[in-house]
Amino acid sequence: MAMRRAGKAAKGGKASREDLNLKRIVDRQFDNAARFVRLPGGLLEQIKACNNVYFVQFPVKFGREYRMFFGWRAEHSHHAKPLKGGIRYSTMVDQDEIMALAALMTYKCAVVDVPFGGSKGGVCLRPRDHTPEQLEKITRRFTAELARKGYIGPGINVPAPDYGTGEREMAWIADTYDALNPGQLDNMACVTGKPVSQGGVEGRRAATGRGVVFGLREFFRHPKDVARARLDGGLEGKRVSVQGLGNVGYHAARILAGEDGAKIVAVGEWDGTVFDPDGIDVERLARWRRRHGGVKGYPHGKVLARGADCLEVDCDILVPAALENQINLGNARKIKARVVAEGANGPTTPDAEKILLDKGVVIIPDIYLNAGGVTVSYFEWTKNLSHMRYGRLEKRLDERKRENLVSAVESITGRRFSGEIRRALTRGIGEEDIVNSGLEETMSEAYHHLSETMHRTRGVTDLRTAAFVLAIRRIGDAYLQLGIFP
Ligand code: NAD
Repeated sequence: MAMRRAGKAAKGGKASREDLNLKRIVDRQFDNAARFVRLPGGLLEQIKACNNVYFVQFPVKFGREYRMFFGWRAEHSHHAKPLKGGIRYSTMVDQDEIMALAALMTYKCAVVDVPFGGSKGGVCLRPRDHTPEQLEKITRRFTAELARKGYIGPGINVPAPDYGTGEREMAWIADTYDALNPGQLDNMACVTGKPVSQGGVEGRRAATGRGVVFGLREFFRHPKDVARARLDGGLEGKRVSVQGLGNVGYHAARILAGEDGAKIVAVGEWDGTVFDPDGIDVERLARWRRRHGGVKGYPHGKVLARGADCLEVDCDILVPAALENQINLGNARKIKARVVAEGANGPTTPDAEKILLDKGVVIIPDIYLNAGGVTVSYFEWTKNLSHMRYGRLEKRLDERKRENLVSAVESITGRRFSGEIRRALTRGIGEEDIVNSGLEETMSEAYHHLSETMHRTRGVTDLRTAAFVLAIRRIGDAYLQLGIFP
């Protein structure tokens, strides 16, 4: 509802001339980048088009009443398989939005070199309106509909969490799929983002937020790019404003403050913005939000009336991590951040983007920056197919090697490490270490390619266009090598 209000607000006043249809926005972004890519005639259209969409309306019985629900699953591209993309629960969901988000998944996977095609799904509902029992029934029924039509399966199409869904829903999806396909060994790989006890992988919960942080760290390792934003140094001491304290926003804010020494000066939620130029205690605010359902009334710092106020506060880095179209013609000129780090999908409209780029703001685009979730989903999927947790084979061996090394250093120097340092040095690598290492490698490598594409492609001057150019080139190459089945 809050987002619907935000959407309506954006449609009023100055923003009324703005096209807020995410599908048309993504298509425009694609067309803008396609000018810089040479591919045989027709191939660009094939890459851009959404291959197929399944719309379903299904009944769910609550007590003695029947309620109808509307759901979609879009499959944008089959150049790599399986297809991958989240399922969102929101009253804003419609077919165009799902198709646009599926397209973003295709480009995102290509940018971070994750071998999946893009997909997305959604059910039109507001989770807060339903009990957990009702949500379970809706999720299981939607899964059954997808299974019936071949829109879910470990080698076909693999959903994940998105806005309004999480581990709990993914566990219900896995269990339903498993019940419908008894005895199939790889069933758990039919969905990612599951609880660790149900075949999930350590580190998945925080992966998108952590990926946002890895992406920002890599950006700050490229001084030429940082200088474009008229900033210098690293993340330490940078003032950050975050919109949305959900999965993406919470973990990004927590890690930026806790590991990088950044100062979280504002957090926007559906019912207001907490602002404190001295820095917000993210954990304390998250506890308050969990207990009270929002940030209103939070007793530390100042609470501004609107969630969107966080977009306009004085800061160095703005992390929109709620929903699309939040930065639009209505507020772009008021944005003071030097870097917009897109945690959410499609948070910046093209008209707003133009204003920001003209002001010298650097936008680190969604199709790169929030790819941490799908990257670690890829690790979860491979874990499910291998049926073994990461690190299980090598952890003890690694520990023993480290112990030998530490003992050798102690005997050569004649001095002993303290118990705490010894424990830190000899701890063997576990699943979360391996996952985070793979995520860091993926985000660093991808940023490097992105920056290189921007600097080496004549006419490309921003990271979003560079990301689309990189994605289109890679998908184009895949099609050229694959050929098209007659
Ligand atoms: P979420 O549901 O966990 O969190 C969204 C948060 O935004 C909630 O806390 C909600 O209260 C808040 N919010 C709602 N209206 C708001 C408003 N008007 N102003 C400020 N905050 C508001 O969702 P999420 O999984 O964190 O997803 C957020 C965005 O990130 C979405 O665009 C999603 O597509 C994208 N994304 C998520 C993942 C993932 O792994 N979860 C991966 C890639 C991209």
